[in-house]
Amino acid sequence: MKFKAVIFDMDGTLTVPTIDFDLIRKELGIPDGDMVNVIASWPEARRDAAWALIQKYESESKIIIKDGVLECLKKFRELGIMLGILTRNSADGVSRVAEKLRFDFDMVLTREHEYVKPDPETVRCFLREWELEPGETLVVGDYIHDIECARNAGARSCFYFNSGSRFYGDESDFTVKNFRELEAVVIGE
Ligand SMILES: [Mg+2]
Repeated sequence: MKFKAVIFDMDGTLTVPTIDFDLIRKELGIPDGDMVNVIASWPEARRDAAWALIQKYESESKIIIKDGVLECLKKFRELGIMLGILTRNSADGVSRVAEKLRFDFDMVLTREHEYVKPDPETVRCFLREWELEPGETLVVGDYIHDIECARNAGARSCFYFNSGSRFYGDESDFTVKNFRELEAVVIGE
């Protein structure tokens, strides 16, 4: 076994991406830059309205769990691997996915937390809680933020490549396209 803990991004990693962030950016008038940071810089009323809009899109989005997720999680748990979710989605959003998946993660960190991705402090929170070294931990995600927060905390990163989406595999330690491949990365051959 190569890793003692796996921290998963949620949207686009455990689930098939269905939230249209380009549309949300357009509606909010945030063509580029980090959405969370831009919204945080706004006055309270505008900020609240923005989060309400995002929440609306999220709660209306369809949850499609990717093939092989549950089998993979169960296998990791049997091996005693700690399992977490690190997401910029809400606690509500995670509950919806966990319910559909019928799986309880050991630790979940959402955007309601003091730190959000790509702040490496997010990853360090898991390491402190689990008393693990960064090198024993793998962060899996489909976006550059997932790779950056892993790298900046000293953890290993695994890019989950959804075909048709932007490729960040040059930045990560590993790249996978499905959960079979992830099992090989985490457990070894
Ligand atoms: Mg994602």
